[in-house]
Amino acid sequence: MSTDWKSKESQYYMFLVRRQPMVIERGEGTRVWDTDGKEYLDFTSGWAVNNIGHANPVMAEAIANQAKTLLQTSNQFYTIPQLKLAEILVENSCLDKVFICNSGAEANEGAIKLAKKYGKKNKDGAHEIITALNSFHGRTMMNVAATGQPHYQELFTPIPTGFTHVEFNDIEAIKKATNKNTVAVMLEPLQGEGGVNVPSENYLSDVRKWCDQNDLLLILDEVQTGFGRLGSLFGYQQFNIEPDIMTLAKGLGGGVPIGAFLAKDSACAFEPGDHGSTFGGNALTTAAAHASCKYIIDNDIPSAAKVKGDHLQAGLLKLMDSINIITDVRGMGLLWAVEFADEITPKVIENANNLGLLMNPTRPNLIRLMPPLTVSIDELDEALNRLESAIQLATS
Ligand code: PLP
Repeated sequence: MSTDWKSKESQYYMFLVRRQPMVIERGEGTRVWDTDGKEYLDFTSGWAVNNIGHANPVMAEAIANQAKTLLQTSNQFYTIPQLKLAEILVENSCLDKVFICNSGAEANEGAIKLAKKYGKKNKDGAHEIITALNSFHGRTMMNVAATGQPHYQELFTPIPTGFTHVEFNDIEAIKKATNKNTVAVMLEPLQGEGGVNVPSENYLSDVRKWCDQNDLLLILDEVQTGFGRLGSLFGYQQFNIEPDIMTLAKGLGGGVPIGAFLAKDSACAFEPGDHGSTFGGNALTTAAAHASCKYIIDNDIPSAAKVKGDHLQAGLLKLMDSINIITDVRGMGLLWAVEFADEITPKVIENANNLGLLMNPTRPNLIRLMPPLTVSIDELDEALNRLESAIQLATS
């Protein structure tokens, strides 16, 4: 890596991330290249964003065409790309209305505001939301409060109140935490950043039942799981339930910054003026997201992700059989974690970088794999070989 870029980072950029030591310059499909020309298989996908691969021509064309036509007008006016995106999202989900914003955190902020407004309007001012321990909902203050991980909160107290955190995968804990002030339960269908925690078979349908019995809204944060990542267009489809409110970002835009929250008509308590955004739903990002969504739907990318996910799972389980330090392999679709008995993540990541495989160091003893959904079977096999060598080198 050129020392020039590294020193510019330390001189000019806030130190908030321990970056890996390469400058990524370009990408194509599942691969990216650094400034030294070294090639990597990218199993981070910009943190589950590049679902249709890097530099997909469909996206490039949509962005270029829209940039030549109209970038932004504000929501004071109708724009065609925004309404086309709204249509494709609603027509392909169980939800009725959408609001488009700019990130996952913003989508969750909007969803939380919507639930609180619903409580004010329909439930005697109920405003509390039950969320799960080990969840991750974003970095704004409201989402820091919603997130069930104290280390994201401690440095920023006082944080907004009104969230109760319970064990994930424990319906009894939700039942116990519910009171007359509870308006919603907010969950990731499968926890991503919290360690790729897969819910047990009936958990989400039990939560859905409890919400129905108690007039609670079920908010699903599908920022990471949405748009094919779990092997269906939306994660909720894997669990045969429907949320009242769903949030999206990451894979929704295929690489452009965009988020959205969708709601059933019955949950849509907003009135004009309750919420808004200058850039949310702008012509450029909605045109790009529409192109990405249409590509995913027209080519049934989620079903292919399921087949490829099964292949990756089989390969990872084989590694677990042959390498003692791997204690667990878990995930769904093309979102997987490999857990180790020791804190060897930094060494595994360093070795994998050298071998040309990029992965996410999620915990000191856990790595996350989330390739573009367009990854090929050969690329999965290549990545599995590199991962095996990276772990063996870290333990030899
Ligand atoms: N929700 C989930 C489930 C996420 O995984 C993330 C980011 O990792 C967010 C929300 C926050 O999204 P963003 O970083 O776009 O604000």
